[in-house]
Amino acid sequence: MSLGIYIQVPFCQTKCTYCNFHTGVVSRDRYLPYANAVCREIAGVAEAQQLSADTIYFGGGTPSLLDPAALAKILDALRANYSFETPEITLEADPETITPEKAKSWLAAGFNRISLGVQSFSDRELQATGRMHRRADVGRATEILRAAGFDNISMDLITGLPHQTRDSWEQSVSELLDLRPEHISIYMLEVDEGSHLGKESLAGGTRYSAPAIPPDDTQAEFYDSACSHLAAAGYDHYEISNWALPGRRSRHNLKYWQRAPYLGLGAGAHSFDGTTRWANVHDSAKYVAMIEQGITPREQIEPVTPEQALEEEFFLGLRQLDGIDLARIERDYSSLDANGARARFAAIQRQVESLQAQNLLDREGERLRLSPKHLTISSSILAELLT
Ligand code: SF4
Repeated sequence: MSLGIYIQVPFCQTKCTYCNFHTGVVSRDRYLPYANAVCREIAGVAEAQQLSADTIYFGGGTPSLLDPAALAKILDALRANYSFETPEITLEADPETITPEKAKSWLAAGFNRISLGVQSFSDRELQATGRMHRRADVGRATEILRAAGFDNISMDLITGLPHQTRDSWEQSVSELLDLRPEHISIYMLEVDEGSHLGKESLAGGTRYSAPAIPPDDTQAEFYDSACSHLAAAGYDHYEISNWALPGRRSRHNLKYWQRAPYLGLGAGAHSFDGTTRWANVHDSAKYVAMIEQGITPREQIEPVTPEQALEEEFFLGLRQLDGIDLARIERDYSSLDANGARARFAAIQRQVESLQAQNLLDREGERLRLSPKHLTISSSILAELLT
């Protein structure tokens, strides 16, 4: 199976209040040394010589902050070390960072998909969460990208932002659909304890508007409402948080849910080769220093046991609305009895039956899916499945 390549760019202009990613606001002087380190890591990964890849995804952070020449240099380094088959090449971009010159440079460098971090069309919500862009920037950025020639744009929204109301949510979904992106992601806000919002939720206070976060059941209503609007507009709901126009599913992200191999490069990037998962050091300065000294930045190297792999088949695979093929999974894991995988499979099957009886999972023959009516509680269903 062809490899997916992920390039992590861990720099942002500000820290959004809900974010607890390993990203930093650093001097622009650090961007180029970082890009050079990523190029050196690419060249130094021995496996690169034998592999072909078909997706590249620049995520972050805010990769669109980097100079287009630095992004192009990283793509050139990848092309020099891998063979590519009609690759999908995605760049995450924040709306306010987009200029006509950058858009043209990105296209010329080979990017053919842009993932635009929209989050909301309400200026009040954007301001409260510390985003740098405003509603008007999204339309302007889309016009620039379309004029440059991009015909594959993804946009995302978040349900549950502070100050979000039913009306403001409906307005955001409506404005998003007016722009007709090829792909849409809708995430439900997760308040991580380490984020500004998370800390305020625990300790109290109003600086980050934690008391203005809509309750969980309201967020679930927003999600369900978006599902209806997107279906009516012709979008295929193919993963819990993702919709696409025909033929525009994210080829890169599908690899994560289908347990395909992917190689992460850059600080904090994660990788999976089919049997082992690992991550690079998170600290970007340490990452650059290690690469410059010829030291591998890989850490947290963990072989995946057959039982863990089996569990991943369920909790990753069931995120896809097409579901999973139980017969294929049983076939793949039946020879691994010595490692307990068969016993684990039997236990999971008992849970499947119990969840089917509660109408939380749907089964047609050997195909198992999450019930479309209960996607807002998918995390609890998957947790119950694997108890
Ligand atoms: S949400 Fe995105 S843009 Fe905001 S701080 Fe986190 S990584 Fe940066």
